[in-house]
Amino acid sequence: MGDVVAAPPPVRIPVRGGGTFPVRRIYCVGRNFAEHAREMGASVPTSTADRGSPVFFCKPADAIVLDGQVPYPRGTRELHHEVELVVAIGRDAGPDPIAPADAASYVFGYALGLDLTRRDLQTEAKAKGLPWDTGKAFDHSAPISEIVPAGAFGDVAARAIELSVNGRVRQHSGFDDLVWTVPEIVHELSRLFALRAGDLVFMGTPAGVGPLVPGDVYVARIDAILELRGQVSDPR
Ligand code: MN
Repeated sequence: MGDVVAAPPPVRIPVRGGGTFPVRRIYCVGRNFAEHAREMGASVPTSTADRGSPVFFCKPADAIVLDGQVPYPRGTRELHHEVELVVAIGRDAGPDPIAPADAASYVFGYALGLDLTRRDLQTEAKAKGLPWDTGKAFDHSAPISEIVPAGAFGDVAARAIELSVNGRVRQHSGFDDLVWTVPEIVHELSRLFALRAGDLVFMGTPAGVGPLVPGDVYVARIDAILELRGQVSDPR
């Protein structure tokens, strides 16, 4: 007796320099830039001691889009862009939490992604105290670039991210003002989940989120090292 339904193969993200990265899970961090938390009407931490715990949610691995092409999703009138740094986990964690000082050894590399959001559905869920899944975890909600190995990417805090739509800059920020840094997020996630090779972590978006409509062309960049471009098409 074999499988009674067809098992889809994992999504495989190209790696610069060769090879592919098979995706297991997608974790996402919410409210990781103070200015974005403010524009969403959330409280903004004023110090490290005041941060509380990071906000985490997930997307399905098959939400990934490799060619940049996003069909306008069903069930929404408010598709929003959130441009984000993506961390690619390169090895399995043990049963104990990963110490922030050890986090770098678990990071294979970095990519550039969009955490596409059905903002109307997320806003409605937030207002009712309900989960965010319908607003966040939909088909084609995670366009992503190739992955650059960590050594070639360099110091995250020294880099900046930008998103333009139809030639106009919508989002731009350095990573020097993340509320939670990459080592801190790896540590916090590992306290809650068994991180494994193949996991991705979307690190949260800076201020300037806004609508995407069919026909929009987007270009995202992290400095001159990563680029992701694509277009929103009519609903499928
Ligand atoms: Mn996000």
